[in-house]
Amino acid sequence: MGKYWSKMAYYLLYTRPVPMDYDVRGLLNYKLSCCVNALLQSFSATTELLDILNKWHPSDRTDKSNVPLQLKNILEAMRGKSYPAPYKDFLNCLYRQAIQRWTEQDADEIFHIILSLSQKQIADAVLAQEISSLFEIKVETQVGCLNCKFIQRMPNSLFSLPLAICERENSLENCINSFFQLQKLVDSEKVYCDKCEKRQPSTYESKLVSLPPILCVHLKRFRNDDGLPRKLYNKVAFPETFSTGIFSAGKSEADCLSSDEHYSLYAVVVHKGTTVSGHYTAFIRPNQEKMWYYADDSCVRPSTWADVQGTYGGYRQRYGETAYLLLYRKKS
Ligand SMILES: [Zn+2]
Repeated sequence: MGKYWSKMAYYLLYTRPVPMDYDVRGLLNYKLSCCVNALLQSFSATTELLDILNKWHPSDRTDKSNVPLQLKNILEAMRGKSYPAPYKDFLNCLYRQAIQRWTEQDADEIFHIILSLSQKQIADAVLAQEISSLFEIKVETQVGCLNCKFIQRMPNSLFSLPLAICERENSLENCINSFFQLQKLVDSEKVYCDKCEKRQPSTYESKLVSLPPILCVHLKRFRNDDGLPRKLYNKVAFPETFSTGIFSAGKSEADCLSSDEHYSLYAVVVHKGTTVSGHYTAFIRPNQEKMWYYADDSCVRPSTWADVQGTYGGYRQRYGETAYLLLYRKKS
């Protein structure tokens, strides 16, 4: 009897159709696929990505191991009218290559895997570059020797900006400032200097080179303290729009980054629960509209900016929904 009712509850929770009054389509949960669902809703709201994929016409439209092909198929299907969106092929394609089946996933990790494999497997160098240019944040890592003042500069590019969270109230701007803060590396952290030819006390900092049209911010809520994983529920307030002035801490002297550019939030991947038992959902604002939608697997409903702000976190909302990935679009 218990088994029957749990099956019924599963059916009602995950397979019931939703009214199709909205443009946003729900996705069935195939055993712990909520992470991929939340990411697909975010990618679906990133219309620029499907625009790139639609320029690609592979000769083999049936390759079940090709991530960009299966991504293109599911993003196209999510714009169709039938219910539910048939995306099992995309899920199986990820399972075949990079993701372990039926396990708790990290949305930032899967976000990177999907974009990296899309870039590698698209078999068109121009389109691969377009995917990179759409998401890549370019930074320069500078390691300065405190003895001889020599600075080693290393270019680096990231699909998401990894922001550490302090165990107090945070704001997006505070977290960005901390990311670009200069750190001193001494004692066991000394770094090898090519000029001195030995390990020396050093400084370490990142400088911002360029921001992409789509900026993904990763709020690092998961921490591993001496092998003990835990989640930080602390509040991180983030704005619906910001100007690039909030990146002033990352600018170098010779910087030509404009502080007049503006970004607007259009997707938030949300994590609810703990490190061992969690669930992902997404808030999205498709078609650059004002209206927000909330997608929890197959259930989709209209939502508001106030609901999105409810994912800031804070210990009063412990185990509640907390924003994990923020996707901002540069305003044209
Ligand atoms: Zn040196």
